[in-house]
Amino acid sequence: MSVERRAHTALHVVKGAIVKVLGDGAKWSAGASANGSHGRITVQFDRKPTDDEVRKIQRLANEKIKEDQPIEIHVLSRADAEARWGDLIYDLFPLPEHITELQVFHLPGWNVNACNKEHTSSTGGVGELVINKARFRNKKQLLEVSFDLVE
Ligand SMILES: [Zn+2]
Repeated sequence: MSVERRAHTALHVVKGAIVKVLGDGAKWSAGASANGSHGRITVQFDRKPTDDEVRKIQRLANEKIKEDQPIEIHVLSRADAEARWGDLIYDLFPLPEHITELQVFHLPGWNVNACNKEHTSSTGGVGELVINKARFRNKKQLLEVSFDLVE
């Protein structure tokens, strides 16, 4: 399993855990990046999470990985995707209008997001992860959550 796929899939798993712990106020992603075994997901949020909340995000993410839930990848028209999932498939910054067909990552009950990257076939492919930093940028109202995959 390539580390790129693992780290990229982990972004979705961590994002889902963030929303479970912090609520819908954290549902808009402002950015996501993976570099080797390191990843960072940025969401719009209005405060710094407590240490306890950050620990809970890590715990829920690892539980979801252990569960080895299958990941669904759907390729469909943008209109059909919006009809099915609404704005949940989008990030903070809009997709260009000319994009009319989407690949959608769907982990039922956890995360759904238009995403054209490659993923593992189930959450277990990610392996364990550790959240090593949660930085809140007050001026921008952004929360950056960084993690590393455990080899
Ligand atoms: Zn993805």
